[in-house]
Amino acid sequence: MTQQDDEMAAEGTEVDEVERASDVWVFLEEHAGDVMPVAWELLTEGRRLADDLGEDLVALAIGEDLEDVATEALARGADRVLVADDPVFEPYRADPYGTQFREMVERRHPSIVLIGGTHTGRDFAGRVAVPAHAGLTADVTELDVDEDGQLLARRPAFGGNVLATIVCPEHRPQMATVRAGVFEAADPDPDELATLRATDDSIADNDRIEPVEVFIDEVDTISEVLVRDVTERADVTDADRLVAVGGGVEGDLGPAIELAEALDADLAASRKAVDEGWIEGARQVGQTGKTVRPDLYVALGISGAIQHVEGMNDAGTVIAINDDPNAPIFDHADYGIVGDLFEVVPQLTALLEGDEE
Ligand code: FAD
Repeated sequence: MTQQDDEMAAEGTEVDEVERASDVWVFLEEHAGDVMPVAWELLTEGRRLADDLGEDLVALAIGEDLEDVATEALARGADRVLVADDPVFEPYRADPYGTQFREMVERRHPSIVLIGGTHTGRDFAGRVAVPAHAGLTADVTELDVDEDGQLLARRPAFGGNVLATIVCPEHRPQMATVRAGVFEAADPDPDELATLRATDDSIADNDRIEPVEVFIDEVDTISEVLVRDVTERADVTDADRLVAVGGGVEGDLGPAIELAEALDADLAASRKAVDEGWIEGARQVGQTGKTVRPDLYVALGISGAIQHVEGMNDAGTVIAINDDPNAPIFDHADYGIVGDLFEVVPQLTALLEGDEE
């Protein structure tokens, strides 16, 4: 309970958490200075919701050395930034993040809290929502507010056949983890960014950036990072060009890798390719994977199941290569090649590399 809650309880006034809550919060997930693209996507979407509600858009940064992150958030539309800056938050661990986030939510009463549906976001969001008695909708793909100011969080349900709208009328905050790549991020205002970064000590100087109390100490944490995976993480949501592999590659990624190199593209995959263990899960596109919006999407041996298409139907140009002329992927392709990918793809790669006329 906050001091305000205590005072109201002493006066016998019931604390109405729905009435009291206000502001839209967006979590700025960053790791060693790199902000996850979904955080900027949510800031743009959060701006729209906050404007509809007539409330403030507040960005929340947890980590270490967050000056650049905070100033960029202001230049991208946040009204204010709350900064919890402490070495205890680097590298990421669920218990310090969860404790810090929960304390801030319980003391400041945001109405809406948006978190990227990344490994990190999914990992700690429940640690905030459960003790705070908040409503949490996972894997959201559409957001809106109704005339009563309630968050309408939409997400696919029943195998993607329906879009469920989830509301949380009685508790605050209304929390959502949101899929990466669904919303577009607005660019930062270059003039504002330049002005904000002109001051060396922008956190201290800027009254829209508020350093907050840190609620956890290293001795209170229950986890320790002993080994850190430093292998490059795939982020297919950020790629301009993708070559995606499906069941048709039958475990042989060679032709796809060569085509991707010729196109300067990243690799993506259907769930079949991931489930078979041919490629890492972070590259899966679709309902239970990532939503991607590359300029070019080349689908190799992918049938075009609805759950896959859901993750790539906002791609720019789609090229499908499949040996089944009736494969549904052709309904979503701008260009289709009916043929054996093991014959077609090497020819395409050779053409791109200029080895063949
Ligand atoms: P297959 O179904 O095995 O299709 C292979 C295709 O390759 C066929 O069209 C075949 O004609 C073609 N082919 C075969 N050999 C060749 C060759 N030599 N040359 C050219 N073409 C060839 N799927 C996803 O992708 N992403 C998701 O996020 C996802 N989420 C799901 C969530 C739920 C709740 C459920 C129920 C399913 C989900 N799926 C998802 C699975 C989805 O329904 C399909 O099973 C999956 O997408 C099939 O993958 P695929 O098309 O690569 O493989």
